[in-house]
Amino acid sequence: MQKDSFQKFKSFIKKSNHIVIVTHYNPDGDAIGSSLALYNYFIKVKKNVTVITPNEYPEFLRWLPGNKKVLPFNSNQKKAATLISKSDLIFTLDFNNYSRLEGLGELLNNAPAKKILIDHHQQPDNYATLYFHDVKACSTCELVYEFICGLGGKKLVDKNIATCLYTGIMTDTGSFRYDSVTPKTHLILSNLLSTGLTPSNVHASIYDTYSENRMKLLGYCLSEKMVVIPELQTAYISLTEKELQKFEHKKGDTEGIVNYPFSIKGITFCAFFSEGEGKIKISFRSKGKFDVNQFARKYFNGGGHINAAGGRGNVNDLQKTINQFLDLLPIYKKEILKK
Ligand code: 5GP
Ligand code: MN
Repeated sequence: MQKDSFQKFKSFIKKSNHIVIVTHYNPDGDAIGSSLALYNYFIKVKKNVTVITPNEYPEFLRWLPGNKKVLPFNSNQKKAATLISKSDLIFTLDFNNYSRLEGLGELLNNAPAKKILIDHHQQPDNYATLYFHDVKACSTCELVYEFICGLGGKKLVDKNIATCLYTGIMTDTGSFRYDSVTPKTHLILSNLLSTGLTPSNVHASIYDTYSENRMKLLGYCLSEKMVVIPELQTAYISLTEKELQKFEHKKGDTEGIVNYPFSIKGITFCAFFSEGEGKIKISFRSKGKFDVNQFARKYFNGGGHINAAGGRGNVNDLQKTINQFLDLLPIYKKEILKK
């Protein structure tokens, strides 16, 4: 845990005239939720603020309060570059190394602005001036709530800010069920709910918005593409670009698929591989002590959390990447045998 003093945070914010909030490539609910919560807070305290994402994000996240003001870098490169070079304070949310920003990383690296990192992923880089980092937080949204309260803004957390924060906590905790959820998380949720937000609306907006194709893709993954290795308590699913095209794949359609094999009794390690955009994207999930952050970092150019991490194949070849994963499974077998 590394948390700088609120005296410092307050002084940096007070002195700033142009704040930029940046989050990671392929933003998820926690990335967009935390960025827009902080954005809405700064709007309320009359700061000049913009949210920049490295790329577009799924439709099921494009409804949160403030969403229309978000600037995706991939389609607004010049404007984003100007904003970043002119800003004097940049918040980096829900990631902790520039490789998570793709092309936007270089702009941040060259920006003269001071940087404040708010994040809950393992092993942060040292690019920031101030840190609000805690791997024990269930989500960046939990940290943003604490951050706003630390600035003295608890009373300013209205239904809009609360909706953003609730979304990120919900999506990063598998709807409040992971071990990362603490009594503190529920106390925060209680405060968020008292602003009048409707949890069933948030849930429906995120989870009950599948297209027919997305639902069928999920069915196809489970019935045709899931490989279960019971003796290793492991299961994985892979999709080629052609298969994704067959289901007219849209951004976000594969989100969450990696978790489904956990519903099989005894499965404690899941992986999901997909081909596209010139790379093999991988998701890892574990139950228990096996550290998929280390696994993804060491072998697949990635990282994340102990029980949820992502990475990419060392070569742009789906089968070779799967084979490498299978070759590494004895490492996981050792983990199982420890018990
Ligand atoms: P997902 O599998 O859902 O893409 O990501 C799982 C977790 O790992 C998320 O918290 C995400 O931020 C992180 N993650 C995903 N891909 C990468 C990656 O390539 N590098 C790092 N460092 N973290 C990643
Ligand atoms: Mn997160």
